Amino acid sequence: MESATQPPAMPLPGGTLEVRRHARKGRSLHTTRLVKGGEVVLEEAPVLLLVAPDMSTNTCATCLRAVGPQECVGCSSCQQACFCSPECLQAGTSTPWVHSPPLCGAYARLAALQLPVEEAGQLRFLLHALALKHTQSPEAAQRYAALLDLVGEPTAADQALAARLAPVLAEALAGALPGGAAALDLSELAALLRKEQLNSYGILASAAQAEAVRAAEAAARQGGASGSGRGGAVEQEEEEDGERRLRGSAIYAQASLINHECLPNVARYDFFDDPSHRNPAPASASASTSGAPAIAVAPTAGGLASTHVVFRALHDLPPGTELAQSYVPLHWGLAERQAQCRDVYGFGCTCPRCQCESQWSDEEGEESEWETDSGDGGMGEEEVAGDDAGSGEACNGEVEMEEAIGPIMAPPGEEGPLEPAYLRLFLLKYMCPRPGCFGTAAPPAQGSSLLECNVCGHRRSEQEFLRELERAQREERRAAAAAATGGKGKAAGQRR
Ligand SMILES: [Zn+2]
Ligand SMILES: [Zn+2]
Ligand SMILES: [Zn+2]
Ligand SMILES: [Zn+2]
Repeated sequence: MESATQPPAMPLPGGTLEVRRHARKGRSLHTTRLVKGGEVVLEEAPVLLLVAPDMSTNTCATCLRAVGPQECVGCSSCQQACFCSPECLQAGTSTPWVHSPPLCGAYARLAALQLPVEEAGQLRFLLHALALKHTQSPEAAQRYAALLDLVGEPTAADQALAARLAPVLAEALAGALPGGAAALDLSELAALLRKEQLNSYGILASAAQAEAVRAAEAAARQGGASGSGRGGAVEQEEEEDGERRLRGSAIYAQASLINHECLPNVARYDFFDDPSHRNPAPASASASTSGAPAIAVAPTAGGLASTHVVFRALHDLPPGTELAQSYVPLHWGLAERQAQCRDVYGFGCTCPRCQCESQWSDEEGEESEWETDSGDGGMGEEEVAGDDAGSGEACNGEVEMEEAIGPIMAPPGEEGPLEPAYLRLFLLKYMCPRPGCFGTAAPPAQGSSLLECNVCGHRRSEQEFLRELERAQREERRAAAAAATGGKGKAAGQRR
């Protein structure tokens, strides 16, 4: 329980959540009433949507929908953006921070530089952020304020990155920015880059998109010269870890307040390709011409827009529960999760699962069982900041991936380690059972006994779960018996 000296909580509209200040983690989101498993705890429109530079020809620049070759409406000016419909083309080109003429021109000049895909992505993000900053409209101002309000203080590495990108940014903006490079505020750029890294959600490519990109890359390898300067081999290894290719990213203001735990209690669902969800750019919205909003910030009445993110409770959450999402896939091993939290998000995870697993790795070699090869799931950044400016105090020293991870202790006043049996049961229940998926599953609706994966959409009944539980328990007993008779080989390797 919190002490009485804490600042008052701030309720969010909807009557389900409030923002509190957590002594160690900063802001946090908490339930204000009992939330049932499967209930939607948060639905939100994005502040900003960005298409990954290597997905420009198959992802709608306005709504991030995956676009097939036939339905694609390409931008004929820059050839660096496409749209899923004439409506999205209209909305995108008339919205200053989506694909207005200045941004379109900047996209074209960026493309001519043939930058590595990661750098191109960072530059595009800055272009869109600056478009928000320099658009004279209440909605743009509101969105830019939401960006600046995101958590994240720039590190020295972010400062260096901003200084390196600024001249390129100025070149891309050309005449669009009054004052040119001199008008760019380096510390603001650094802060924006940091905030984007900490808060943006990677949006997974559709299966068709991932397949198309793989085919294009194979063709480029065979044909030698490829048209665009993408990072190439770096991305190879991600594919072994299921479909982790990203089509783009999205920033949501309230969702970004949900802190990380390696065992989440909410799962994120998105609907970019769901035809039952309304296109966010109906013709009526673009009727008002003077830079008026084409994308509503408030939830739209009469149905969920396809760009809205939804978080559903995995199980019942009593009043006062802090919402927790996992910033990394659930199947990642302890060392990998620790490294990702530290290197990308700037904090050392001390959650009850990490505490629990750090004890295992001391006792038995069991930890390795959860390990996978490094697959970078986030909007990863290669700059490993020497001084993690974030909430680094909880992290006890720079632990290398290969080194053993010492016991992770609960921060004062916070929850202790999970029971290993509970952890195993949790993962068996809430991790998608489809091989290679590794999505998180929550009930599709309040009161439902089904569990629905947030990556592949697979639904599992309670009976199926119970059968898998039985099978897992049988295997565990068999492994234990094998271990007792000296055969150690069986225990490692097979998770289920
Ligand atoms: Zn679209
Ligand atoms: Zn264009
Ligand atoms: Zn953790
Ligand atoms: Zn799945």
